[in-house]
Amino acid sequence: MLKLLHNYTKIANFAKKETMINVQNAFPFRKATGIIYFDNAATTQKPAVVINAIADFYINSNANVHRGNYALSQKASKMYEDAREAVAKFINADQEEIVFTSGATESLNIVAQCFCNSFSKAKSNNADLSIILTTEAEHHSNIVPFQYHCLNHPVDQLKFIPADKKTGEIDIENLISGIKSDGNTIKMITIAQITNTLGTVNDVKRIIAAAHEQDIPVCVDGAQSIAHMPIDVKDLDCDFFVFSGHKMYAPMGIGVLYGKKELLKMMPPFKYGGGMITHVGKAETDFQESPYKFEAGTPNVEGAVGLHAAIDFISEVGMDNIKEYEDHLLSYTIERFKEVPKLKVIGNPKSGIISFVIDGMKNDEVAEKLDMFRIAMRSGTHCAHPIMTKLGFAKEGTVRMSFAAYNTVEEINYVTEVLKKITNNK
Ligand code: PMP
Repeated sequence: MLKLLHNYTKIANFAKKETMINVQNAFPFRKATGIIYFDNAATTQKPAVVINAIADFYINSNANVHRGNYALSQKASKMYEDAREAVAKFINADQEEIVFTSGATESLNIVAQCFCNSFSKAKSNNADLSIILTTEAEHHSNIVPFQYHCLNHPVDQLKFIPADKKTGEIDIENLISGIKSDGNTIKMITIAQITNTLGTVNDVKRIIAAAHEQDIPVCVDGAQSIAHMPIDVKDLDCDFFVFSGHKMYAPMGIGVLYGKKELLKMMPPFKYGGGMITHVGKAETDFQESPYKFEAGTPNVEGAVGLHAAIDFISEVGMDNIKEYEDHLLSYTIERFKEVPKLKVIGNPKSGIISFVIDGMKNDEVAEKLDMFRIAMRSGTHCAHPIMTKLGFAKEGTVRMSFAAYNTVEEINYVTEVLKKITNNK
């Protein structure tokens, strides 16, 4: 077995020049497991500051929120709302525009069920058919909620902007001219900023500007971008932006729906129960304003506290530093992978995700062999059947290597050597 390399100092200095935060050492899983983790598009590992913030919440501050007049409940409520403020600041939104959800999937379901339902009624008077536009390169979570909305509202049809069958990229010029010509029938566009299969970066700012010229709202799936590039929802001018905490060093089970105030205001609640009401009678109920009307029941306070700690961690390291560092890891990997016989990178990865196949080997076999060398990498169709089908990988998918700020050049060297060994033994 090849030797594991643990010389991270050089890389850590690169990630944070001024205060020398050692990003790698901030994550206890590394020393605890010795695993080389490259499945960050699925979920990231957690830094000690996040783990400690959650433990500290349960030791010192645990109470239900927005319910008690006693100090402990008020402390917990403040921590929950402080987390909302931190999220708002992180993406340049207003606090009331931040809805806590269980993750990107739930956020997209809220958009499909609450926003699309209400505007279908409004627009169906003017057009025979309304189109919800997505792309062939989306994660299932950005397809299925809208597909189901359309099945239940036959006036709406889900259409797919085609992806290139070689690169998997969306032709933005074609999309923009489509927006211009079909503008009056397109009711909404929902698109990923970075795709989870091939690491394609979509110029969502341009798409949003073109869509807004035709009064078309745009939802951005930021699940794969939130931890890898600075996000400013006001600058993007997106109408909705969704992401999950667990892909940005925070716990599972917490996520965010950002929505422009006026849109959240007109949307009905997503689920119903305690916490989201102002008055309940036997026959009817008055709801709170957003974001609270979307947060029925006891919320995930621990998740919000963990997300807050993760945002503080990212901000301390610096999102620009993370982006610069991960871009470096990506181009370095692409270079090194040229040395691996029969390895083919799929598409033109522009962010920290590389999909590849090895001629003559099944992807599951590659992932299993890597696992024997304590390298965690995912194989399969990555919850994205349409793009995998388009690229001709419907059955087997690809092997996907995805980066986080704690990965290193040494790890990439190790992976390259292991891959060479695996392919040479075939
Ligand atoms: N969109 C994209 C682009 C994703 O990569 C994912 C998760 N892989 C999701 C949505 C769904 O995220 P979650 O499972 O955390 O809800």
